Amino acid sequence: MSNNTENKKSAYSDFDLQYIAGEWQQGQDDSVNTNTNPFTGETLVNIQQATEDQLDEAFKAAQKAQQQWAQTMPAERSGLLYKVVEILDQRQEEIVDWLVKESGSTRVKAMVEFGSARAITVEAATFPNRMHGEIRPSNIPGKENFAYREPIGVIAVISPWNFPLHLTQRSIAPAIALGNAVVLKPASDTPITGGLLLAKIFEEAGLPKGLLNVVVGAGSEIGDAIVTHDIPSFVSFTGSTAVGKHIGELANGGDTIKPVALELGGNNPFVVLADADLDNAVKAAVFGKFLHQGQICIAINRIIVEDAIYDEFVERFVEHVKTIKVGDPNDKDTAVGPIINQDQLDSLKNKIAKAQEEGAKTLLSGEIEGQVVPPHVFTEVTADMDLFRNEIFGPLVGIIRAQDEDEALKLANDTEYGLSSSVFTTDMEKGLRFARGIRAGMTHVNDITVNDESVVPFGGEKNSGIGRFNGEWVLEEMTRLHWVSYQHKPRDYSF
Ligand code: NAD
Repeated sequence: MSNNTENKKSAYSDFDLQYIAGEWQQGQDDSVNTNTNPFTGETLVNIQQATEDQLDEAFKAAQKAQQQWAQTMPAERSGLLYKVVEILDQRQEEIVDWLVKESGSTRVKAMVEFGSARAITVEAATFPNRMHGEIRPSNIPGKENFAYREPIGVIAVISPWNFPLHLTQRSIAPAIALGNAVVLKPASDTPITGGLLLAKIFEEAGLPKGLLNVVVGAGSEIGDAIVTHDIPSFVSFTGSTAVGKHIGELANGGDTIKPVALELGGNNPFVVLADADLDNAVKAAVFGKFLHQGQICIAINRIIVEDAIYDEFVERFVEHVKTIKVGDPNDKDTAVGPIINQDQLDSLKNKIAKAQEEGAKTLLSGEIEGQVVPPHVFTEVTADMDLFRNEIFGPLVGIIRAQDEDEALKLANDTEYGLSSSVFTTDMEKGLRFARGIRAGMTHVNDITVNDESVVPFGGEKNSGIGRFNGEWVLEEMTRLHWVSYQHKPRDYSF
């Protein structure tokens, strides 16, 4: 844990460089990534972007470093991860400040994110000693069957901008702990918190050169190449469903077959049944919808309320939303800060216009100032409307009326996505039955949809993706199983 002397470390700098083969080097492409603070508009750093040749250099360095890393003792890899935890603690304030200024995180969200990134690092530190193999029976006389669990090799990681630190760290910490190397492409809006900052931390922890490479470049320029390059043997992608489908096709089309983990978009239902504790449900709905301005894959996307309590829920929900503070993410009380970029802002403006056109009733709205969108609440939303059908990724929400529990379940499942979900009821039997009726990777009874813990299986189904993060699930994804048999005495072959 941190102490005061160590807390006085000087802040990291030189975030305008790429981290390739263990060296901080200038990008060679003509294009520049201008990294801006989404609240103030201030330029944080200009990064000359990487070329495909630099990506190739990163993969070659990763391949070389991985071969030696795979031979290290588990205690060495584990020790490295614990050192990373120590540095995270010492630099918590610096990291949280970066999350606020680069990704527009409120202080509350930045702390949540820091906690999640730290927790998966602690969990990953246990992985080197959990790479268990197995001995399996054989029906062939004199044969022994072994299943060895080995590192998978070089992993390509592509991460998004919304929880950049955590969603990058949940791939790279397990990858490295398990004896792999990584080439990472962070999102263009968050090259620092989604990559370069973590590279500084791993470097300070003593990670051998080449094991972690951070290549900052346009998705359109190096995005395809990072997947199709022949060195990576696994691709971990977190982002939108549209890009995820493309990544899945690239990884398993043309000349290559590569396993992929795709953690994609959601359209998460938050269901309030007639017997719910309304105080709890309202507080949860507001937090689970508006944390990080609703820009979370597992944020509440639809609120479905049973008819008997619909009007009361709506009234209390709107009252509570009116009390939350909107504006500067650096103020510790702010609940809703800025939207990440102009494209996302434009998409939200379109969604607001469309909700009104389609006949949803606007109960709460407000002026958009800069990139800050105040909460918008729409009621009488129906299953054919855009607010119901599509991922919102912003501080807008539609409340839907369900006649009864059966209809609430049908509505909850009426989506192409299957990431997270919630149901509120005071009846445990009913809650678990309802939860298990939802086709999604994750369902929480009497809690928000926004939940992640380092030891539970995190992931989605349907168009929300494939694969699971955390615990033994990510351990299995980022290793390969190798069946090796030993024939102790000659076999009796038939010819
Ligand atoms: P995005 O798909 O636009 O971008 C994700 C990453 O892919 C970025 O690094 C981007 O630069 C890169 N990229 C873009 N085009 C590419 C291409 N052609 N080839 C390779 N890489 C490419 O998503 P985003 O806007 O950064 O993030 C928001 C989306 O991510 C939302 O849909 C959200 O639900 C989803 N998300 C899912 C999870 C999850 O765990 N399921 C977590 C966070 C975000």
